[in-house]
Amino acid sequence: MNKVTQLYEGKAKKVWTTEDPELLIVDYKDDATAGNGAKKGTIHDKGIINNRVTNHLMKMLEKEGVPTHLVEEISDRETIVKKVTIVPLEVIVRNIAAGSLSKRIGLPEGTPMKKTVLEYCYKDDALGDPMVNEYHILAMEWCTKEELDLIAKYALKVNEVLSAYLKEVNIQLIDFKLEFGKLSDGTIVLADEISPDTCRFWDTVTHEKLDKDRFRRDMGGEEDAYKEVMKRLMGE
Ligand code: 5GP
Repeated sequence: MNKVTQLYEGKAKKVWTTEDPELLIVDYKDDATAGNGAKKGTIHDKGIINNRVTNHLMKMLEKEGVPTHLVEEISDRETIVKKVTIVPLEVIVRNIAAGSLSKRIGLPEGTPMKKTVLEYCYKDDALGDPMVNEYHILAMEWCTKEELDLIAKYALKVNEVLSAYLKEVNIQLIDFKLEFGKLSDGTIVLADEISPDTCRFWDTVTHEKLDKDRFRRDMGGEEDAYKEVMKRLMGE
């Protein structure tokens, strides 16, 4: 399978069409941005790590009953995925307060949530991905009620499966962002990526941050942190 034309270039990935109209090739970059593009940089080998970590986790989720867009990893940075129409929502799941939630409601980072929190943001860079609720989503027809219920069910299942798996390698899953898409037959599948770019991972014992917050917050050590996550998950 070959890349035909570049369909899209995002902050962290390029997406190419292929000879098959139902399949795309995703190409992961080392570019890193934060603050909606305000801060730009590079995290060496991030593209390789995010490609491999995402595929490793998506394979596991497929086995656990969460359908994904994954077809096949074809190189260090490239993966064949099913073409989807992205539901324009960032679906955020939170186990422990951090980031924008801590700011919004004044909860110190690290405070466990008594119940898992699910949030939706409307995917729109120009608007800064504003938080929306189910009423907005249905009124704007970004998806149907049935689709949203399924998306919520899958997001909570992803949390259950990943939290348990990461715990075994001494990583606490603080929060994460998912994106879902619709196949041409209407099936909802998990799309985009699951990586240290899109999740907060803390070492269970030391609470050291092993994710993109190191870059966002100018802490340094992001390359080692990404490598450490890959090593703990995949033994490499
Ligand atoms: P927060 O809302 O606290 O900034 O982010 C919550 C979680 O979702 C974090 O794990 C963060 O990595 C992820 N997240 C939210 N929005 C984005 C985004 O636009 N890009 C990326 N890479 N991750 C996001």
